[in-house]
Amino acid sequence: MTEHPRCPACDRALPEPDSSMKSSGRGPEFPFCSKRCRLLDLDKWFTGSYVIPGPPVDTVDTDDRE
Ligand SMILES: [Zn+2]
Repeated sequence: MTEHPRCPACDRALPEPDSSMKSSGRGPEFPFCSKRCRLLDLDKWFTGSYVIPGPPVDTVDTDDRE
């Protein structure tokens, strides 16, 4: 049983590294299967971590809710 790395973006098995990149054994897009997935995941990351807050909510003004 060989554990084959999977692309974290699309969950597909990564393509076998070809002999031209045997110096590292991994593709330039590792751990993603392609540049597209790398950018996709990066984008997800950015949109997830840099959450753009919506319109400010008045959390201070709770008096009249009591
Ligand atoms: Zn992928």
